[in-house]
Amino acid sequence: MTPTTPALQFTRNQLSPITATIDLLNLTHNVGEVRRCISPGCDLLAVVKADAYGHGAIRVSQTLANLGIRRFGVATVQEGMELRTFGLNHPILVMGALLPAQLSNLIEHRLTPVISSEEMAVHLTERLDAHSAPYPVHIKVDTGMRRLGIPLDSVLGFLETHPFQSRLQIEGLMTHLADADNFDPKFTDMQLKGFQTLLNQIQSRGKVIPLQHTANSSGILYHQESHLNLVRPGIVLYGYPPGPNPNSGMPLRPVMKVTTSIVQVRAVASGDPLGYNLSYRTKRPSRIAVLPVGYAHGYPRRLSNKGMVLIHGHRVPIVGKICMDMMLVDTTDLPLVQPGDEVVLLGEQGTEEISAVEIAQWAETIPYEILCNFGLRVNRVYEPQFEDFKT
Ligand SMILES: *Cc1c(COP(=O)(O)O)cnc(C)c1O
Repeated sequence: MTPTTPALQFTRNQLSPITATIDLLNLTHNVGEVRRCISPGCDLLAVVKADAYGHGAIRVSQTLANLGIRRFGVATVQEGMELRTFGLNHPILVMGALLPAQLSNLIEHRLTPVISSEEMAVHLTERLDAHSAPYPVHIKVDTGMRRLGIPLDSVLGFLETHPFQSRLQIEGLMTHLADADNFDPKFTDMQLKGFQTLLNQIQSRGKVIPLQHTANSSGILYHQESHLNLVRPGIVLYGYPPGPNPNSGMPLRPVMKVTTSIVQVRAVASGDPLGYNLSYRTKRPSRIAVLPVGYAHGYPRRLSNKGMVLIHGHRVPIVGKICMDMMLVDTTDLPLVQPGDEVVLLGEQGTEEISAVEIAQWAETIPYEILCNFGLRVNRVYEPQFEDFKT
């Protein structure tokens, strides 16, 4: 079997019964909003992990590069390699967990690692060519997230260790905020204070680290002092606020719309059970539409008998259990509905709208998860059309 190339994957999804329309003008608008919120000396690293939160990392990154964005963040070496292979030449920061086995690919594709342990720094130096220039890395500091990162009080010693004397070049120092979308700023203030104290100590020792960054979308929106000289927006680029606090003052525009079409409409008698485990019974003679979308397309199964879709500009309830590749909706109140009619799962139709925030509330999760999961098996359509990387 030959390996699946990203190009092949794209071709395969073109036949998907579910379409994600990615509005690149809305993406452009959201970039403008983030830029308006940060000061002129502050740069922007666009987070495009998880296939750009389901929006397609290649075209999203390409659009962002054309807008002048010069830094990109991914979660894995694999994601970074995909962007390099498609021609993105800008610095790409691998922000997720690293394994020693991935380091030769990382070096080969000129990806910038986030270093969170002394062992990883040593592993990296061992894989560098003896004569290569110092390899750029960012150091992650744990100021309270307790996930990855060097403990705050060990960083100064860590920077003195052998790998940083000649083989590695510290391009950035970063931390991640754990609670920046909370109305109560206490924990974030504590994290930022720890980070700032460390920066001052490093500076007083005469060391210069060019990039200092802490802010995800919540930091950008709610904590001006977290911006430093680089911010790392993710979810706001895709048009959604990072938390339940809607008063961000940033008018965002959702970038993804998800649609499908009705495959069949059937008449069902009153009192008939529908679907697996007979979880729904009709209360009247009904017209039930079949949609070619299920949980394997990223629509949460827990929205069985709970979620809604838009047809002919109206909200229509999902009835019965959502299957792997299909679901049923009750269109009895819309007698003109026919096979082939458009169904909106996420986005606007007429004057109605279902947002990822609403779907996330029904499913008791966050919009991030809804967007990522929708991205897995969709036919993606970009508006406006394709342009080549300008790098
Ligand atoms: C995912 C991620 C971000 C972006 O987070 P948003 O809440 O989507 O803005 C920023 N920094 C790191 C390290 C991340 O992993």
